Amino acid sequence: MIITELKPIAEVIDSLKSYSRIFLVGCGECATTCKTGGKDELVKMQAELERQGKTVLGSCIPDAPCISAQIKVEMAKNIPALRQAEAILVLACGLGTQSVKDNDRMGKAVLPACNTICGAVVDAKGDFCEKCSMCGECVLGITAGICPVTLCAKGLLNGPCGGMDKGKCEVDKDKDCAWVLIYQELEKQGKTAQLKAAYPAKDFKKTLKPHRITAAR
Ligand code: SF4
Ligand code: SF4
Repeated sequence: MIITELKPIAEVIDSLKSYSRIFLVGCGECATTCKTGGKDELVKMQAELERQGKTVLGSCIPDAPCISAQIKVEMAKNIPALRQAEAILVLACGLGTQSVKDNDRMGKAVLPACNTICGAVVDAKGDFCEKCSMCGECVLGITAGICPVTLCAKGLLNGPCGGMDKGKCEVDKDKDCAWVLIYQELEKQGKTAQLKAAYPAKDFKKTLKPHRITAAR
């Protein structure tokens, strides 16, 4: 899922200084889980904006505003309010915010209420753990399912740097060295021999942005 945090309210208010009639869009998936764009956060945002003298004309929470079909349906249901709005404030990630912009046919100002941090898994305690940097060339098959691109502070692909100390990362002593974790996992599986092969440098062409991939039909 995509991890977001709410921007400081002063920053949100400042971004809306030229607008007084606002429509709010939340997100029923990731931003609801992050408590940045669910029902409660929209209610709180509305109250804050009203305290600042703004008028909130309405709101919607599509399951996933990053999916065009869903935001289109919600916008169609809210056309009267959207017509009167000067700005749409999106409580979702940068994908959701840009999807709202792409699907707004009225040319409204579309503004983010959140900062987008990373893609992460939600662990058993409910904490968000960044695990994948979306590098386009997954090496998990040779690193025992542990991502060195993301979990190694230097993104190294061929074993630990010289700074690893007693299994800890030289960049952050509180963190385990990703390559020690990879070695230990491969050792359990009796597969450390596969580390002898040097992994070639990554093809950074695969990280050129923006990606546009045609969905399978
Ligand atoms: S190697 Fe790491 S960053 Fe690249 S796709 Fe796999 S999990 Fe993601
Ligand atoms: S100590 Fe390990 S995790 Fe830290 S930068 Fe070096 S190789 Fe990467």
